[in-house]
Amino acid sequence: MKCYKDGGEMVPTVIDYEHRGIVVKGVKALKCPVCGEEVIDVDEYGKVKRRIESMIKPLRLRRKISSAGNRPAIYLPEDVVNAVKVEIGDDVEIYVEGNRIIIEPVNTS
Ligand SMILES: [Zn+2]
Repeated sequence: MKCYKDGGEMVPTVIDYEHRGIVVKGVKALKCPVCGEEVIDVDEYGKVKRRIESMIKPLRLRRKISSAGNRPAIYLPEDVVNAVKVEIGDDVEIYVEGNRIIIEPVNTS
């Protein structure tokens, strides 16, 4: 296989593939000795994708709407707060999409 950029002959290598913060080590790939471009081979990519999917555990928790000062309130589970890296005092945006309530951290930094 040749590099699509410069036609360099790709050589087999092993890389750490990173996707959304998840690193899969020891992935078979091809590397161009000219420009350093790395390509994961197609079969390997399927395997890597399945490995990543099995590592991403969807965070889905059930909560009851409780009441805070007579208003409906939901307490955020610690796992959720940690997953999106927000803390008490941070701003969030709340919006509605269909019948979903979406809470999104506001990036103030
Ligand atoms: Zn190249």
